[in-house]
Order: sequence, then structure tokens, then C-alpha cells
Amino acid sequence: MTSRFEQALEKLKTTGVRMTPQRHAILAYLLDSMSHPTADDIYKALGDRFPSMSVATVYNNLRVFIDSGLVRELTYGDDSSRFDSDMSDHYHAICDSCGIIVDFEHEPLHDVEAAASRETGFQVRGHRLEVHGLCPNCAKVH
Ligand code: ZN
Ligand code: MN
Repeated sequence: MTSRFEQALEKLKTTGVRMTPQRHAILAYLLDSMSHPTADDIYKALGDRFPSMSVATVYNNLRVFIDSGLVRELTYGDDSSRFDSDMSDHYHAICDSCGIIVDFEHEPLHDVEAAASRETGFQVRGHRLEVHGLCPNCAKVH
């Protein structure tokens, strides 16, 4: 059994990506994290270990991982993208109050894609669905 980290390293090797200590740390942090961090979260978490690292460095490394198919970017129309190293099919619940993103499993909604394709003539490549509301913690205080 190889770990997800070893699998990721192997994949980077085959795409010719050179590993640096920072790249190593960012990848390990992402694979460990269930929280869908922003680039800024990663920067803050690793800043002590890499004082010379900038947020831009974190972004550049995330871009490399995305291009290698190891990480997915969840964009929100501004610079608050969240990053997810779980590439399996899954959906997200997002808290309107604290912003936490929690994974949930559901069979992929192929019928929605088929309906979209029928009605729009699009060649559908995929879909993204999020539910939003209040997480259990925030629901307690609202
Ligand atoms: Zn919340
Ligand atoms: Mn996720």
C-alpha cells in the first residue's frame, strides 16, 4: 500500500515536476487537510517553516499541482479560491456563516448533466454542485 502522498509524488515525477522543500510541504499540508484551505491559509500554516515563502509562491505551487491533476480549485469569483486534494467525485456543503466546507457523498447526478445537454446542446464535461446553509456549530448560535 502506498500512501496518497507517495502516489502524488509519483505522479509529479512522471509529469517532470521537480520537488522542492516548499512544494513538498504544501502538498503534504493539502493532502492532510480536510478543510479546503485558501492559499492564504496554507501560507499562514507554513510561513514559520519557510520565512522566505510568499503567498505568490504558494499560488504558483498550487497551480503546478492543479496542472498535474492532484488538486482541484474551487473558485468563488474572487481571490478566495479554496483548494481540495480529494479528486474523487464528491459534493460540498458550505456554511454561510463561518465558511467551513464539508464533503458529502452522493451518486454523481448524471441525469442533470443529460438534461443540461438535451436542453442546451452543450457537450457537458462536468458539473459542480454545492449546498449552503448553516453548519451545526453556527446553527447553535443563530
Ligand atoms: Zn458555520
Ligand atoms: Mn472536498
